[in-house]
Amino acid sequence: MKRILVTGGAGFIGSHLCVRLLNEGCQVVCLDNFLTGSPKNIQHLTANPNFQMAEQDITTPYCPDGPIDEIYNLACPASPIHYQYNPIKTLKTNVLGAINMLDLAIKKRSKLLQASTSEVYGDPAVHPQPETYWGNVNPIGPRSCYDEGKRCAETLCMDYYRQYRIPIKIVRIFNTYGPNMCLNDGRVISNFTIQALMNQDITVYGDGSQTRSFLYIDDLVEGLVRTMATDDDFTGPVNLGNPREFTIRQLATLVLEITRSKASVILKPLPADDPQRRKPDITTAQENLGWSPTILLEQGLVKMMKYFKEELKIK
Ligand code: NAD
Ligand code: UDP
Repeated sequence: MKRILVTGGAGFIGSHLCVRLLNEGCQVVCLDNFLTGSPKNIQHLTANPNFQMAEQDITTPYCPDGPIDEIYNLACPASPIHYQYNPIKTLKTNVLGAINMLDLAIKKRSKLLQASTSEVYGDPAVHPQPETYWGNVNPIGPRSCYDEGKRCAETLCMDYYRQYRIPIKIVRIFNTYGPNMCLNDGRVISNFTIQALMNQDITVYGDGSQTRSFLYIDDLVEGLVRTMATDDDFTGPVNLGNPREFTIRQLATLVLEITRSKASVILKPLPADDPQRRKPDITTAQENLGWSPTILLEQGLVKMMKYFKEELKIK
């Protein structure tokens, strides 16, 4: 039986990954300090004898007893309002967290998968973005703690791989959504869905012409597990995202249609350094993992609406 460490396991993505790994018969150690994750996301797992919770900050070294075969390093706030709340802590989480987990991987001879992000491409000058594109990132702006922190974590992974030959995998995750996102997450899909359900104004930032590509959580988890299962010489980086691109205005219209809401759309200022467009080239994932997304945004939004209705106790 494999024993797997999931850092950030009480968060949105981590909680779904823990469920998937337990269902596959693995033992799971979930490391989280509950900064943006919630005990509620993993409450239903605590009775499972194969599940263990370690309430721990990843910026301090961590070495559990027993073997660890695989590490999924997901701990880091992902929403701009959350990662900008304490930017220095975000940087430490990315950099010290990666060092601590890579050192643990050496000690335990584990494979390590690093959750990176499409943000490493910044405001991209190449469209769509292949993994070979080095990006266009502002190193001194309000998003830099996250973007540069993730870029540094990728560098650390590759240096540990070259220096110590530990098996590492880098996945660049594009905007992902689904149940277990916090109500106050602040990201666009959660904001729009909640606003529509509560008949509040839909807040489009800027003129809404900027684009994003949205991946449903189940597709992402499948991609993460497939990446971890690749041969040791496959390090990535590999883009995991949905290549279907939407403007933020199109997204607002779709959410209004699906929720049958009468809310109106209002425009708010565009945050600093907000990338103008983003769409993954997923050729690497298709060729190396046999992976592509299967869930349409229209289907995923229905699941999202159901989840938020339950959370908000709306009939
Ligand atoms: P999330 O905020 O829901 O989850 C992050 C988890 O990490 C939370 O449970 C939080 O409590 C925990 N955490 C944060 N700092 C920590 C620390 N110092 N020590 C221990 N635990 C800590 O975010 P998410 O959407 O689930 O994102 C998970 C990972 O995926 C992150 O690394 C994020 O950068 C990456 N990612 C997510 C997306 C997305 O669209 N959701 C896109 C790109 C990359
Ligand atoms: N956005 C928006 N209204 C909101 C929240 C976000 O128009 O209520 C925009 C935001 O400016 C960005 C896009 O939606 O252009 C995606 O934002 P999100 O925070 O979800 O993710 P990221 O910017 O990290 O891709």
